[in-house]
Amino acid sequence: MQLKESDEDGFGIEIVLQQGDRKAPSCVHGPTLLFEKVCKGEEKGRRFYACSACRDRKECNFFQWEDDKVSEARLLAREEENRSKMPPFTHQEYCSRFRKFLALPLGRRFCQDCQLLLLPGEWEIHASHKMSQADDITEARLSRPSLMLKPLENKKSNAQYLFADRSCHFLLDTLAKLGYRKVLCVGTPRLHELIKLRNQEGKSDPMKSLLLDIDFRYAQFYGTDEFCHYNMFNHHFFGGEAASGVLRAFLDEEDGEKVIMVSDPPFGGLVKPLAHSFSQISETWRKLQTSEGGVVEMPIVWIFPYFFEPRILECFPSFTMLDYQVDYDNHPLYKHGKTGRKQSPVRLFTNLTPRDVVLPREEGYRFCKVCARYVWSGNKHCTKCNLCPSKDGRVWKHCSECQKCVKPSWRHCQSCARCALPDHPCGNSPGLEGCFNCGSLKHKRRACPLKDKRRTDNK
Ligand code: SAH
Ligand code: ZN
Ligand code: ZN
Ligand code: ZN
Ligand code: ZN
Repeated sequence: MQLKESDEDGFGIEIVLQQGDRKAPSCVHGPTLLFEKVCKGEEKGRRFYACSACRDRKECNFFQWEDDKVSEARLLAREEENRSKMPPFTHQEYCSRFRKFLALPLGRRFCQDCQLLLLPGEWEIHASHKMSQADDITEARLSRPSLMLKPLENKKSNAQYLFADRSCHFLLDTLAKLGYRKVLCVGTPRLHELIKLRNQEGKSDPMKSLLLDIDFRYAQFYGTDEFCHYNMFNHHFFGGEAASGVLRAFLDEEDGEKVIMVSDPPFGGLVKPLAHSFSQISETWRKLQTSEGGVVEMPIVWIFPYFFEPRILECFPSFTMLDYQVDYDNHPLYKHGKTGRKQSPVRLFTNLTPRDVVLPREEGYRFCKVCARYVWSGNKHCTKCNLCPSKDGRVWKHCSECQKCVKPSWRHCQSCARCALPDHPCGNSPGLEGCFNCGSLKHKRRACPLKDKRRTDNK
């Protein structure tokens, strides 16, 4: 995973969220997104459709200029290709396979190469593959698919980073304490798994969970009411109406149980399309609400690196970023190792009331009365800014010239008239790229005041 504070559109590519009913062509991952390649100094970039889910051409090579005329034959070939890339079994088929698998008298096999629970008739064709054998495949193991399946490693788009137990338990405890009894898990298979495990233990109030994830390997383990094959970048249900019906039924609070959504999208993911999908989920929820007044927003916890804060808040102004640092098991950089803590940059963004999310004192969080939220111990309240300013967990310091707190590594630069890293490209030094849109050196395209004027899309 590349975790840089770079723009999602750092290469001059922007997303154009479609309004109206113009239909985007589909790749195997559902409707594609419309992108615009913006070139310096050009009024309007050229637009093209590309895969919503895969940032890597090697994973999905769909490409079509917006104004391409696509022949009927080409469309048919494309449909055929999409079909051929679908999972080998339907979710129903996976479910009946699982029942048969559980009933096997002896000999359970899981093909590690194909990541598939095998039925005896299939052993032969997988004979040369790497296989887990009966002893390994206990009920206990089967109830932890996130341990059994190999985490996906596609570097650019959907690498899977699984929660460390500590973070997963913290999340679930927090939701339970706040009274939520239904959790919509969007790209959080391990949280979904933990909810089921806790239900089995029977020590706490039972909770319901629905997993929406693009990783269809999970369909082998979960029923159609527990898992939907779903793309969170275009709100696409691979199982069609039946699957979106499952979501609707889950979001309905008629049963008297409050629902919350928790999502941990791939970090290479684009914020805007994610926010768009989450809004659609939230909208589905809102339409199902019977009581008038009351809460108007569906409770959401969006797990993402802190440096996406401005972009997430742009989409969801009511959200707050909390200081809690989310840890992962298999992340090469942010593992909570024995050798000392490397701070994770991943945070919770939520519309829950910050003060209600109690962060664990024993892990170094404290309550700031003024900010009315729990903060990391290194996040010292600044009386001049009147807030706890640190985003990255380090102790920030106040700059009187900038009139705000900045990262400890920054120094105030007189010629830039702002704080920056000591070795920043200063002023108009060559190599400093200005705004792609208007050419100004004062801001990047993202912050261009003229940008939105040019972008009244697709009327
Ligand atoms: N920390 C989480 C896993 C996060 S990894 C946990 O432990 O449960 C990101 C998750 O999002 C993975 O499960 C991955 O399969 C899923 N994902 C990636 N791209 C997706 C997409 N386009 N639509 C839906 N889910 C996606
Ligand atoms: Zn695709
Ligand atoms: Zn404070
Ligand atoms: Zn300050
Ligand atoms: Zn400064």
